[in-house]
Order: sequence, then structure tokens, then C-alpha cells
Amino acid sequence: MTITLTGIQPTGELHLGNYAGAIKPLADLAAEPTRETYVFVADLHALNGRPEPEQLRDRTRKMAAALLACGLDHDRVHVYRQSRVPAVAQITALLANVTSKGTLNRAHAYKALVAANTAAGRDGDHGVNMGLFTYPLLMAADILALRAHEVPVGADQTQHLEISVELARAFGRAYFPGALREPRAVIPRAGGVLPGLDGRKMSKSYENTIPLLAPPEQQAGLVRRIVTDSRRPQDPKDPDTSTLHRAARRVRRPATAQEVRGRYRTGGIGYGEVKALLAEQLPTTLAPMRDRYQALLADSARLDAALHAGERRANQRATETVRLMSSAMGL
Ligand code: ATP
Ligand code: MG
Repeated sequence: MTITLTGIQPTGELHLGNYAGAIKPLADLAAEPTRETYVFVADLHALNGRPEPEQLRDRTRKMAAALLACGLDHDRVHVYRQSRVPAVAQITALLANVTSKGTLNRAHAYKALVAANTAAGRDGDHGVNMGLFTYPLLMAADILALRAHEVPVGADQTQHLEISVELARAFGRAYFPGALREPRAVIPRAGGVLPGLDGRKMSKSYENTIPLLAPPEQQAGLVRRIVTDSRRPQDPKDPDTSTLHRAARRVRRPATAQEVRGRYRTGGIGYGEVKALLAEQLPTTLAPMRDRYQALLADSARLDAALHAGERRANQRATETVRLMSSAMGL
């Protein structure tokens, strides 16, 4: 079995871009019969943004329910809350002793903050807390704790994975070689970037998203707001530069997508018609996920049971890793 591990922060509502770019590719990987997949809600990492406690608790549950509802709910997937696997925090403390400060100094997120502070004439470490500075160390602990073979990562996360490999090697050199498994990055087959309502990349920060699990009327309303130009139905249009088409083709069945594409090129389809189709199809396509999500949120005992099962499995693996490390280190 290949052990695959990934984490997602409980920040805000999932949108279609997250689904197309991260969750769907992960669910596809997890569906492979030779894979066992661990997915955690990174509530410890989220503490660094100092969220309001009740909101963090609420978002953590919602994110877990969303993951389970989006296809990560069969018996080869284990969804868990990071904070419920205390071994991760223990491993962070153990690993700190083989982590050179220079490695963390070079982490992109920290370096970018130092550069911004320096440019503004402030102390380099202004506003930097240890949670931020040691973020890659905690992430390495997440990965090494579960002895993951593969970690699906976006291009922006590859450095964190390199740090995890570096720390696994450092531990091996200091204690015994091969004690910790060195993870590999897998870049899931790129679904490409899904555009948002305004044509830029769909992103929480741009407030141009279509929430994945929102009520159908709300999704339909947002579809009608997707930017289009002033070309008329009869005018030929390039489907590849149309935000509406780029978003819509991800939702349609392939045959319909081909047909609509042809009509774009020759003229004979108006944006209004495409929007109406999409406003109707999108909520229907997403209905099964939304129903599962709502059902899980309404039945907290079921959600708890699913999380406890995932946490039991994650704790088993992570506790073995702590034992092995502790014993190697002389504890
Ligand atoms: P933020 O604005 O805070 O950066 P976001 O909306 O971009 O948030 P992230 O939390 O950065 O979402 O991304 C979570 C995952 O979803 C990542 O794997 C990211 O690559 C993927 N993702 C986010 N937006 C898109 C998009 N528009 N198209 C494809 N994948 C996306
Ligand atoms: Mg982003």
C-alpha cells in the first residue's frame, strides 16, 4: 500500500477552484486500490492566524464534513483533525533537535516577511511569531509521523516537502539511517486553474468565488455574475478566452462540452444561454455532495464517528513513530 498524506487548513468555505484543483484530484488518487490516504484538517497550523476560538472549532468541523462529503469517505481514506493526534506535537519537539535554524530561515514564507519588513525599514522579525517560523517543522512532523510515501502538493508547497526530506535525513544521520521515511511529492494531474467570477484565478482573497457547497439559488445567482464581453449570440467567440466557457466546461459532460465549444466558434450561442445552462447544471452536479455535507453537519454523532475512526488510525501510525524516535534518541 502507498501511504498518501495531505492536509488542508480550515480557513473559510471551499470553492469550486479548491474542488477542481485540489479535492477532486485527491479523491481520484484516493480511489486507487493500492493507496491508503490520510487527510487532515490542519487546525494546529491554523492557530498561527489566531482565529477566534469558536470560529476555528466551527470551521474545522465544516472542513472535515466537506472533505468527507466530496468523495473522501471510503475505507481507504482516513480524515482526522491534526490536533487530535498529539504525537504530531511530540514529533515536532523531537525533530527540532535535528533542525538547523538556517533551514527555517530559508523557508519562502518567512523569507518573504523578512524581506518586506526590511524594505519597510523595520526589524526583519517584526510581527513574526515562532508558529510562523517553525511552520515547516510542524509540517515535516505531520508527514514523517504518518511515514507517508507520497504527499500531493501544489507547486508553491514543494519547498516544505524538501524540508521534510531534509529533516528525515538529518534524523537518520544523527540516530539510525532510514528511521524516518523520506516522502515524495506528487503533483496531481493538473486540472489547471479555475477562473473566478471576474476572470482572475478563483480565490478566497479575490472574493470572486462560487462556494462549492452553497445553496443552489446562491450558486445560480453567482453564475449569472460571471464576466462576459459584449459579443452577441450570433458572433463567433474563442471558447478558450471566455471565462464563462473555461468555468463551464469543467462542469459539463464531455459530449455537451464539445458541442458548446463548436457553437462558440461558429457563433450561434449566447452568453445568456450558456449561463442559464450552467446555472441549472452546476447545482445539480453538486447536489449529492451538498446533501452529504448537510447530512453530516446535521448529525454530529456521525461526523464525530467518522473523525474518531480516522483519528484512531492516524494515532496508531504516529504513536509508533514517536516510540521509534524516542527509543532511538534515548528517552
Ligand atoms: P487564498 O486566497 O487564501 O490563497 P484560495 O482560495 O486561493 O485561498 P487556497 O487555500 O490557497 O485557496 O488553496 C487550497 C487548494 O486549492 C490548493 O491546493 C490550491 O492549489 C487549490 N486552488 C485554489 N484556487 C484554485 C483555482 N482557482 N483553480 C485550481 N486550484 C485552486
Ligand atoms: Mg491560494
